Amino acid sequence: MEITCDIVTDLVDVYTNNVASEDTVNAVKEHLKTCPECRRHYEEYKRNIESERKNKVFVTEKSPGLNEEIILESMNKLSKRLKTRRTIRNITSVFAVVVSLVVLLKGFFGEDRD
Ligand SMILES: [Zn+2]
Repeated sequence: MEITCDIVTDLVDVYTNNVASEDTVNAVKEHLKTCPECRRHYEEYKRNIESERKNKVFVTEKSPGLNEEIILESMNKLSKRLKTRRTIRNITSVFAVVVSLVVLLKGFFGEDRD
């Protein structure tokens, strides 16, 4: 399918973002092969998008306030969870001591009764 430079210019956005249908991709590809002007336009557009993406990543990395908040929050959650686990372990060991005491006493009195 033959398309004009105007169509390619319109489609360069969907084409670069990989959201174009297969036919569109093929048509734009074919046109880019034969038209240096549109190729230049496409390369420029792609470069812009890539640098925009890099900027976004950069911004995310450069917001320590947000990251610190997230880290603090997850640390709080973690320490809460650890505390709960420790309490459960304490209860379990107390319970184990009580159970073995009962078993010991039962055994003692049982032997005594015999
Ligand atoms: Zn063209």
